Amino acid sequence: MDQPILMIVVPCYNEEEVLPETAKRLSQKLSALENQGAISSQSRILFVDDGSRDKTWEIICSLHRQDPVFSGAKLSRNRGHQNALLCGLMAAKELCDVAVSMDADLQDDIDAVDEMLQKYKDGAEIVYGVRSSRQTDTAFKRATAQGFYRFMAWMGVDIVYNHADYRLMSKRALNALSEYREVNLFLRGIVPLIGFQTATVEYERGERFAGESKYPLKKMLAFAFDGITSFSVRPIRLITVLGILILCLSVLCGVYDLIALLFSIPFSFGLLGLSVWFCCGLQLTALGLVGEYVGKVYSEVKARPRYHLETLLDTSNEGKNE
Ligand code: UDP
Ligand code: MG
Repeated sequence: MDQPILMIVVPCYNEEEVLPETAKRLSQKLSALENQGAISSQSRILFVDDGSRDKTWEIICSLHRQDPVFSGAKLSRNRGHQNALLCGLMAAKELCDVAVSMDADLQDDIDAVDEMLQKYKDGAEIVYGVRSSRQTDTAFKRATAQGFYRFMAWMGVDIVYNHADYRLMSKRALNALSEYREVNLFLRGIVPLIGFQTATVEYERGERFAGESKYPLKKMLAFAFDGITSFSVRPIRLITVLGILILCLSVLCGVYDLIALLFSIPFSFGLLGLSVWFCCGLQLTALGLVGEYVGKVYSEVKARPRYHLETLLDTSNEGKNE
């Protein structure tokens, strides 16, 4: 097998402080991998400028002029990390065999790329970078992030624990990703839906070496909310369940009241109180029911692919499996 062409995709938003150093380290990494014979000499680094307001794009342009290993893509305005990443991956899909996405601040250990490539060669189409510990994160970031994964799992969103957007994807996986046409992007939720053979690689997450986080709490909360509402109908189901519960409870209390009336037991819930609870339960149930349909409409509108064919055993297709 020829050595694969690797494309490292890096979304950048106001990253002038880190870019020169990041570029240096990444190109060293690429040369080392090339010398080891792990990747093709056509491998590249693609910086995606997500509508930065500082000198990010100028730096990318000058890097590109100095060394053809650096490519650049510029979004017309700030569209957020996920969209910038998708743009980079979709551009990379046409130019490479395998893409690795990572953040511009190199918090993700770039040495993990070696192992990712090894797993790719062993047959994995998607390799997730998973943090082995979060010692370098602040206690607040660690707690909120950990809570986020637990909550997402409880909400029924299938995401890889402690995995952000540091991952390797083969051309095949990227082609599958391109079939997801949804606008509310939550790549961590979409990528596991693709399937195929996957693997994980553990790494230590370091600290941002310069500049500050582009994900303040407000953006993080919005991101989590987006993740849940794009992948799970559980919030709607909770309404339905709550409605049914209240409805059943008020009916039970009504039955009790009837018995109390018949047997002259002094305690009763009272007609007024009960009718309020009954109506409330009925309304919630009805709302949840309408919600179930809205949820269905939502998933239809997203028009996600229903399957990805991995292998087709057929003599007329001998030698092809895509
Ligand atoms: N980023 C982006 N657009 C945005 C916000 C962030 O492209 O609107 C990029 C940013 O440049 C970085 C990556 O997304 O490469 C992750 O951001 P950051 O490191 O600030 O997040 P944190 O590691 O603090 O969660
Ligand atoms: Mg970071």
